[in-house]
Amino acid sequence: MRSDFMELNPNFRCSYETFRLAVKSMNISWAKLGNEECESCYIFQNHNPGHNLEHPDNSCDECQKWVDHLSRAKAARKLYEEHKNILPDSDARHIRVSADLQKVIMLPRLECFKTAIFTQRLVAYNESFVPIGSLTKQEKNNKPLAVLWHNAISGRNQEDITSTFEVFFDENRDCPRFSIWLDNCSAQNKNWCLLTFLVFVVNQSDTTVETVELFYFESGHTFMSADSFHHQVENSFKKCQKVYDFRDLKKAVASANDGRALVRELSYSDFRMWESCRRQTNKNAAHTLPYLSNISYIRAEKGCMKLFYKTSHDKFEPVQVLDFLNRKIIKNGFNKNFAPRRTCAKGISADKKTCIIKQLLPLMPPSRHDFWKNLPVAAAEADEDDVIYS
Ligand SMILES: [Zn+2]
Ligand SMILES: [Zn+2]
Repeated sequence: MRSDFMELNPNFRCSYETFRLAVKSMNISWAKLGNEECESCYIFQNHNPGHNLEHPDNSCDECQKWVDHLSRAKAARKLYEEHKNILPDSDARHIRVSADLQKVIMLPRLECFKTAIFTQRLVAYNESFVPIGSLTKQEKNNKPLAVLWHNAISGRNQEDITSTFEVFFDENRDCPRFSIWLDNCSAQNKNWCLLTFLVFVVNQSDTTVETVELFYFESGHTFMSADSFHHQVENSFKKCQKVYDFRDLKKAVASANDGRALVRELSYSDFRMWESCRRQTNKNAAHTLPYLSNISYIRAEKGCMKLFYKTSHDKFEPVQVLDFLNRKIIKNGFNKNFAPRRTCAKGISADKKTCIIKQLLPLMPPSRHDFWKNLPVAAAEADEDDVIYS
């Protein structure tokens, strides 16, 4: 930030410390957010010592790729800032949020005990829908929604994340218009399962949802209001010091953002088996589907079984039709058995549960024991999150 400021004001002398204090006095806080760095930018910086930010080479593929990447990142950021400056009160019938899954949270969170760190724990998830305007202003309809569950209830596959979107629309059931900013993570936010759900949700007879727009950031440049909120949640965990069970977690999340966050805990029946109803395409067919990775904007409209999309945030790019559903759905619509609900909790492995009870229960007050003793156990199914996160 300071380098940017110095570049814009070359005749102004200002030390790093003076700059920091001036920014702080404007009530802007400093936070180090994880260790995320843009891979495309990093590759560019290292591809050729002669090619740099100021002088990309017109004949170099890497340089051209990067120039395009940066201009896409800037266009997304500019549009996001424009949306951010629209006051929510001026149009309460249009909700603008960013949505993201918080980095994995382990329960119990007892960072001060080595045993806890080395024991396989329960994985908790927080998919947050956070207004993109200022989070500090007291505005009606401008509260972050934290959708919480853990992996003894359900996992975090496409259909699980899609289920949280249904909860979000349900929480805002009087609102007809939604704009949702997302990062480019295809597993969570950019897949045919979520897109099928969008067509489904706007075409339900009992819904007020009329338009849903998804806006995607360029990979590596995705900082959004949901990240700020997750940072507040992290601080809230630190303040609590010990988060023993799911109820403690809910309390800690609810106290983030000065206690204004809405928390919604999901039970297993809130999860539905959403699926992709994308039609099969033949590579040689005249009518192929675009690659989702190239898409920057998607819109769903009530009464329409197609979506609309753009491949950039350029306002002059015409919107194209995304006719992706299979014939059966187009002809008959979604039948009432579409996306059945979960009928039981996912459960964790018996070994993991035994291990937590043996190793960690002695570190917790008796009031927290029941949660762990009553945790559902999976039949024989593999606990896939253990593979990824243990
Ligand atoms: Zn980048
Ligand atoms: Zn180059």
